Amino acid sequence: MIERMLSLSDELAMLAESVEKTVERVSPLQKVQKLDAEKTFDRELHQALAEIGVLGVGVPEEMEGSGGSAEAQALVLEILGRMATSSAVYMVVHFLVTGLLRDYATDAQRKQYLEPLMKGESFGSFCLTEAGGGTDILTAMKTKARRDGNDWILSGSKMWISGATFCNFMVVLARTGENRARGITMFLLPRETPGIEASRLATFAINGYPTCEVHFDNVRVPASAVLGQIDMGFMQVLTALNNERLNAAAAVTGIGRGALETAVTYAKERQAFGRPIGQFQALQHRLSAVGIALEAAWSLTLEAARRHAAGGSAEVLSSMAKYAASKAAVSAADIGMEAMASAGFDQASPMQRYYRDCRLHVFAPLNNDMVLNFVSERWLGLPRSY
Ligand SMILES: Cc1cc2nc3c(=O)[nH]c(=O)nc-3n(C[C@H](O)[C@H](O)[C@H](O)COP(=O)(O)OP(=O)(O)OC[C@H]3O[C@@H](n4cnc5c(N)ncnc54)[C@H](O)[C@@H]3O)c2cc1C
Repeated sequence: MIERMLSLSDELAMLAESVEKTVERVSPLQKVQKLDAEKTFDRELHQALAEIGVLGVGVPEEMEGSGGSAEAQALVLEILGRMATSSAVYMVVHFLVTGLLRDYATDAQRKQYLEPLMKGESFGSFCLTEAGGGTDILTAMKTKARRDGNDWILSGSKMWISGATFCNFMVVLARTGENRARGITMFLLPRETPGIEASRLATFAINGYPTCEVHFDNVRVPASAVLGQIDMGFMQVLTALNNERLNAAAAVTGIGRGALETAVTYAKERQAFGRPIGQFQALQHRLSAVGIALEAAWSLTLEAARRHAAGGSAEVLSSMAKYAASKAAVSAADIGMEAMASAGFDQASPMQRYYRDCRLHVFAPLNNDMVLNFVSERWLGLPRSY
């Protein structure tokens, strides 16, 4: 492993060691490659992460969580991004859902949904995006919930939803009022509720965690299914999405780091013209430059996490981190592919997985053009462009 240039507190260093050892023991590289090729979720690793308390990171102990801040979540995600990319993406969604339940669930909802989630006994999905568009979701959202006595009835469809085919419950955002942003409510829907249908989509990457289409056909749920405040669901989700941006930055930094490490290891061994290819300055410079970009992105990510943990506004820093990390990771995987040439194409090589998986966080949870719009407005004070 390439040395970490940014120091960690003793507590975080212990967490890092525990997560790294667990992944090495339960899901060594060959197994990660096999599951990726077979498009299978790593349930064993999920269980092992539950056993060491990782699924409860970010939730206070008084809510049966493991405690720990945004920094701890970021560290977990960076390690998983490097060692088991699909599980990292699972954990980005997991932390989003546990965060929403931590912040908005009633005691009864926490017992029913949050506690089993943190013990590794259940899975949650987050259903916001629709086929009409993820970025302009306020215009695209057609999923509606209407009242019927004490119940709510949901109808509509969601697109590109992670894990919906095997989750136990879903957090679904549906339109409940006329107001554009203040007319959307979050609902907690057990997966087995009649009228819900989910199917896996054939996608390009993140093979170990299914991306799905979900249909809601007159799904009837009681009033207790509302998560948070009626009509305020989108506003409540916005805060969580900021944290998701930070977590996406961490996961994709890990993916980039994985690509860099794989490339450097290869460059030290592979011979051409009587010397290791890593002796060619052209390759050395590209690898070093992308390593610097990754460390800079990681530095922004940790600073955003610290700001977030201290209760400050981390929106701009998280956005910068997501942008920088996704760009650096894409470059790292690109250079890694060049360095490995044919060997990078081998399905047994993690390079082709990094090359595919790093693309997700360029546009999700928020695309990089929108991130730049946000930074332009919120940091540079420029007028809104859209
Ligand atoms: C593997 C995977 C997992 C996912 N998991 C989930 C999930 O669990 N839950 C969920 O709700 N969603 C999920 N998504 C959806 C994801 O969040 C959306 O794809 C993302 O928000 C982008 O939406 P879109 O694909 O509709 O792109 P669009 O909104 O159509 O945007 C396309 C492009 O248009 C440009 N653009 C749009 N608006 C602007 C603007 N104002 N200024 C400049 N450029 C602009 C950008 O370049 C952008 O990339 C997932 C997607 C994938 C692929």
